[in-house]
Amino acid sequence: MSDLEQMYQQVIMDHAKQGRGKGLVDAQSRRIGESHQVNTTCGDEVTLRVGLNGEHIDSLSWDGAGCSISQASVSAMTEILADTDIDTFEEAFDAFRELMHSRGEPLDDEHLEDLLGDANAFVGVGKYPARIKCAMLGWSALRDALAKAQS
Ligand code: ZN
Repeated sequence: MSDLEQMYQQVIMDHAKQGRGKGLVDAQSRRIGESHQVNTTCGDEVTLRVGLNGEHIDSLSWDGAGCSISQASVSAMTEILADTDIDTFEEAFDAFRELMHSRGEPLDDEHLEDLLGDANAFVGVGKYPARIKCAMLGWSALRDALAKAQS
C-alpha cells in the first residue's frame, strides 16, 4: 500500500469513527428536506436532513448505520458541503460520481480535488464496483433531500 493509500485509509477510518454532522438536528430553516436511503446489498442506511435558506445549505445532519465506507462517506460529504449552496452540491456530486467510476484513478483536476476535500479518500472504492453503492448512499440521500426541500 502506498503512502497516499495509507493516508486515505486513515481519513476514512477517522470519519467512520467520528461522523461529522452525525445526529439529526431540528433545522430552523425555511425549507427542510429529509431522505432515508437503504443499500440492501450491504445493509447500510442513512437518514439525512437538510435545511435550505434560499440556495444556501444552512443545516445538514444525518444518522445512519452500516459499513465504514457508507458512514465515512456521508460524514466526509457533510464536512465539505455544510454551509455551501445547491450549485456547489451539484458540482461536487458530479465530481464524486466521476471519481467512483474512475476505476481507482484520481480525477486529475485540481479544482475538483479541492472541492471534494476528504471525499477524495474514497478513490480506491472505484476499484470495487460492489462498494460504490456504499460510498454513494449519503450523496443520494442529500440529492433526494434537496429535491424535497425545493418542491
Ligand atoms: Zn456498505
